[in-house]
Amino acid sequence: MRKGLSLLVVTALIMVLAACGNSGEGKNSSGENGTIGIAMPSKTLERWVSDGANMKKEFESIGYGVDLQYAEDVVENQVSQVENMITKGVKVIVIAPIDGESLTDVLDKAAEANIDVIAYDRLIKKSKHVSFYATFDNFKVGELQANYMVDKLGLKDGKGLFNIELFGGSPDDNNAYFFYDGAMSVLQPYIDSGKLVVRSGQTTMDKISTMRWDGATAQARMDNLLSANYADATVDAVLAPNDAISIGVISSLKGVGYGSANKPMPILTGQDAELASVKSIIAGEQTSTVFKDTRALAKKVVTMVQSIMKGEEAEVNDTTTYDNGEKVVPSYLLEPVIVDKDNYKTILVDSGYYTEDQLK
Ligand code: BGC
Repeated sequence: MRKGLSLLVVTALIMVLAACGNSGEGKNSSGENGTIGIAMPSKTLERWVSDGANMKKEFESIGYGVDLQYAEDVVENQVSQVENMITKGVKVIVIAPIDGESLTDVLDKAAEANIDVIAYDRLIKKSKHVSFYATFDNFKVGELQANYMVDKLGLKDGKGLFNIELFGGSPDDNNAYFFYDGAMSVLQPYIDSGKLVVRSGQTTMDKISTMRWDGATAQARMDNLLSANYADATVDAVLAPNDAISIGVISSLKGVGYGSANKPMPILTGQDAELASVKSIIAGEQTSTVFKDTRALAKKVVTMVQSIMKGEEAEVNDTTTYDNGEKVVPSYLLEPVIVDKDNYKTILVDSGYYTEDQLK
């Protein structure tokens, strides 16, 4: 009985420790220059895991401690993680929001405590208290995805008609609208001229968005689109705004026989250069992805924090695009790069982002 009880206690302890590891990394550090809080959305994508790890490494190398938290894509978790960082008295908080509009109150508290906030990759909306925004050129991400499709389909050479279906990102993520607007700035003229046909008729964000960028949600929607509109037709291109959605769409397509000699995969975009998607590109399933070098973004944020700590203005290259409803947030935009099977070695392997072995 006693033995059973102590086993129970040990098991409970292990579970508690494991839970700590899940949400808070378990190995947060302190440094002589103080602590930086980093609030990331979730670990479901490799990119956020690398973003967090890259920033942690960079900050620690210059004498900061790091409180790195992941919120499992639950808004309330993120809010309480940021609250904890404020209570702990961190110097600056870097946040990639889950829902861009849900941090207004907690950012008021950060401002009262004189803590600067940097929006990371995704804009934080409805708050004056966002000092800077570090991201990629999000409109360009969409343009790159769409231009890639236009080139591969030969639309500029007058080819067509082609059937296309469109997916959007999460409706609570400001980036999703920038990706969509960028892509539609290229695709809309071909849709208007009838060269691109959206058989489902679903073209607006309210119809095509994918809550929390969830691959399974995208897969279910693609199943519906295929059964309702493609019983006697083939889909030639799918705009998938990121790799998670692309992988969901691929599962759906394979389920009805795409990916064979007489039913080839459509042109299928993505974003993030996730390992599974790069492998899929090499295998000829997904067609392209957009690489956003998270190492460069982490470095940028570290220099922003250093400027803030010195009481200087951080370097920005965009002061007009990102209006969050309360202010135009001074931003630094990095360049996204299109990747396919022809250039992945140069872009991803030669730059040391992946090794050849990882892609096997
Ligand atoms: C990021 C993308 C990512 C998506 C889902 C967006 O805000 O910019 O890189 O794929 O969120 O996490």
